[in-house]
Amino acid sequence: MKSKGSVFLVGAGPGDPELITVKGKRLLEECDALVYDYLVDKQLLEWVRPDCERHYVGKRAGFHALPQEAIEQLLVRLANEGKRVVRLKGGDPFIFGRGGEEALALKQDGIRYEVVPAVTAALGCAAYSGIPLTHREHSAAVTFISGHERPDKAESDLVNWEAHAATGGTLVLYMAMGRLKAITQRLIDAGRPATTPVCVVQWGTTARQQSLQATLADAAERVVESGLGPPAIVIIGDVAGLGETLAWYDI
Ligand code: SAH
Repeated sequence: MKSKGSVFLVGAGPGDPELITVKGKRLLEECDALVYDYLVDKQLLEWVRPDCERHYVGKRAGFHALPQEAIEQLLVRLANEGKRVVRLKGGDPFIFGRGGEEALALKQDGIRYEVVPAVTAALGCAAYSGIPLTHREHSAAVTFISGHERPDKAESDLVNWEAHAATGGTLVLYMAMGRLKAITQRLIDAGRPATTPVCVVQWGTTARQQSLQATLADAAERVVESGLGPPAIVIIGDVAGLGETLAWYDI
C-alpha cells in the first residue's frame, strides 16, 4: 500500500505575490495537488508544476464554492492518495482562515500536516499604508478582531467590544465592512474617543489597493461614500493617523 501523503497548510500572504515565504514558494513548486481559494493571487498558481492537480474551492463573503466540510474531505482524500498537497490560503492560515479546522480534520484522520505561516492581511495592509501598528508614543498593543462572527451566535459571545475599547491599543478588524457602523458606534459608546483615527484598506498590498483615512465618528459613512468594500481591513487607533504622513504605496 502506498504511504499516505501529507498536507501543507500554506499562507499565501496578503496579496502581493512577493510576500509569500521562501518555504511557501518551494512547496508550491513541489506539490502534486493544490487546493486554493478566492483571496490567492493568480500569479502564485503559475509556480506549480504543469502536472499538478488544481482544485479551486474559492470562498467569498456569503459565497462558498465548496462547503468547509467538503474542503476537509478533499484534503483527506488527496493525502490518502499519497499526494503532497498544498492547501494555499490567503494571508496566514491560522488567522481567521479556518486553518485550525482543517488541521483538526487532518489530525483526526491521521494525515501528516505542516503549517507554513505568512504575512496576515493586518500586517500587509498596515505596512503598505505606512501605519506602524505599534509605536512607542501611541500604542503598545495590537488586537486582531473578527467583525463578522457566526450569525447564529449571540453578538458578544466571542468579541468583548467594551474591553477592546478600554485597552487603548491598536485594533485591527477583519471582515468588518458589513457591520462597520455598529462596531464604530459600540466602541464610541464604550469610551473610545470619536476622534480616534481610522484607516480602511481595501485590497491591501495589491495593485488595486485603496485606502481612506477617517475617524471613529465618520468611518462608516465615509466608507459608504467612497464605495470601498471587502476585502478590507480597518485599523483603529492613534497609529492609524500616521498613515497620512507615512503612506508610500497607494499615493
Ligand atoms: N487568513 C487571512 C484572513 C482571511 S479572512 C489573513 O491572515 O489575512 C478574510 C478577510 O481578510 C477579509 O474579509 C479582509 O478583512 C481580510 N483581507 C484579506 N486579504 C486582504 C487584503 N488584501 N486587503 C484587505 N483585507 C484583506
